[in-house]
Amino acid sequence: MKPADPGPSGAHPPGADSEPPVWLRFWGVRGSTPTPGPATVRYGGNTACVEVRAAGEIIILDAGTGLRPLGRALAAEFAEQPLRLTLLLTHTHWDHIQGLPYFLPIYRPNNELRILGHEGARQGLAAVLSAQMESPYFPIGFDALPGSVIVEELKEREFHVGPVRVQAHCANHPGACVGYRLFTPQGSIAFFPDNETGYQHPTGPYSARARVPSVWSQCDEEALAGFLDGVDVLILDAQYTAQEYEQHVGWGHGCVDKVVALALQARVRQLFLFHHDPDHDDAQIDQMVEAAQRLVASQRGAVRVEAAREGLRVELPAGDAPADSVFTKTVDIVPDPPRR
Ligand SMILES: [Zn+2]
Ligand SMILES: [Zn+2]
Repeated sequence: MKPADPGPSGAHPPGADSEPPVWLRFWGVRGSTPTPGPATVRYGGNTACVEVRAAGEIIILDAGTGLRPLGRALAAEFAEQPLRLTLLLTHTHWDHIQGLPYFLPIYRPNNELRILGHEGARQGLAAVLSAQMESPYFPIGFDALPGSVIVEELKEREFHVGPVRVQAHCANHPGACVGYRLFTPQGSIAFFPDNETGYQHPTGPYSARARVPSVWSQCDEEALAGFLDGVDVLILDAQYTAQEYEQHVGWGHGCVDKVVALALQARVRQLFLFHHDPDHDDAQIDQMVEAAQRLVASQRGAVRVEAAREGLRVELPAGDAPADSVFTKTVDIVPDPPRR
C-alpha cells in the first residue's frame, strides 16, 4: 500500500535510516471452499489470501474469503486515509476470488485497488471478476463501487509493484494459473497456492482430451525449481498426503512428499504448506507437517517446514542479518470490530 500522496501512511517515513521490516500475514490458507468450525479453528477455514508489506507497498496475494478480515483490519489501521493497494491474482477459481465482494476498502471513496493477473479463461480477467458481482449473484456491480477498482491483465512475466520486483511463472493446474515471486529489500517470497508439483498433464495444455474442458496451465518441473531457487519463503500447495494423492493424480493439487522434494531441490529456506484440504482437520495438518519435517531430516535438508495458519505473521530477517537467522513469527488474530 501507499496511501495516496500526501496523506499519512504505514509507509517508511522519508529520511529514516533503516529499511522498514518486510512481513507477510496469512488471512486465508484453506483450499477449495471455506471450512469454518471447531475442527479447523487453529489453522483456519478461510480460503487463499496473504498480505505482504514491503518497501511501503501493501501487496495482496489472491482474494479468497480471507480477504474479508484483511479488509476490516486495513480499515481499522488506516481509518480515513486513502489506500492504494495491489492485488496479485494467481487465477480465478472461486476459492481465490470470493472475498472480493466483501473487501471493505473498495466501498470507500479515495481508495484504489489495482488487480493484476493473467488473462482469465475465455472472457478476460475483468469480465470474470465483475461477473461474480452482478445480479443475480450480488447486488453491487464493479461500476457502482465508491472506491476505484482497476483490473489489468499482465502480458509480461516480470514487472514491478512500486520498488518490489515481481516475477510470474505458470503453475500445474487446470485453467490459466500462475505463481509469483516477490523480490523485497529483505529477501524473496514465492506464492504458488495451487500447483500439482511433479505432475505433467498427459495431454498437455489446450488439449481437447483433457477431462476438464479448459486449458491446463503447465510448467516444466526443472524450470519451476530454477524459478524458486534460493527463495526465502515458499508458500506452496500441499493439499494431500502421499496416500491421498494416489486417488487425486491430475486434480491440480500437490502432495507433501513432492512439495518437500521441490523445496529441497530449490534450496528454499522456509516452506509453508498451503491450500489445506477442506476435509483435513487441525490434527491431520499437524501430522502432515510432522511427516514433511521427517522427510527433510531424512535427507539432511535445511528447509524449515510449517503449515500456513490464519493470523500468522512472518517477518523476514533484515538484509544484514546472518544467512541462517530465523524468521520472526507471531500469531495475532485481528478480531472483528465490535458490532454497533
Ligand atoms: Zn484453490
Ligand atoms: Zn484452483
